[in-house]
Amino acid sequence: MHTDDAVFLEDLCPKFRFRQWRKSIHRFTGKSCIYCGKPSESIDHILPRSQGGLSTTENCVPACLSCNGDKSDENAMYWYRRQRFYDPRRAMAIRAWLEGDLRLAIRLLQWANPNYKNNNPKENKTNFKAA
Ligand SMILES: [Zn+2]
Repeated sequence: MHTDDAVFLEDLCPKFRFRQWRKSIHRFTGKSCIYCGKPSESIDHILPRSQGGLSTTENCVPACLSCNGDKSDENAMYWYRRQRFYDPRRAMAIRAWLEGDLRLAIRLLQWANPNYKNNNPKENKTNFKAA
């Protein structure tokens, strides 16, 4: 597909663009729930739509269905503080995400979750040694 065609297709079909956007949100956290670290299956609004929250990247985080359903339309910061799996590093990550600092948010999530799949080989400590 040519790049021009892709742009054309997105203009014709907003659903396609929406799907791409959802995918990119999940990719930021390596497809894990920002609250508990389980696989993310949905997009959650930090500030719920019922309270005027917008569907922007800053206000939308990857979440598992369990967290998303349990949180319902509460403010994520208040809801998250009461959870058993509460982790202050994740709380900081959620705040950074909300402020639009996704790089910081991802760093904090990596810190909170040592199993996070690191895509940067330079930071990978298991280097091969030359024989
Ligand atoms: Zn979760």
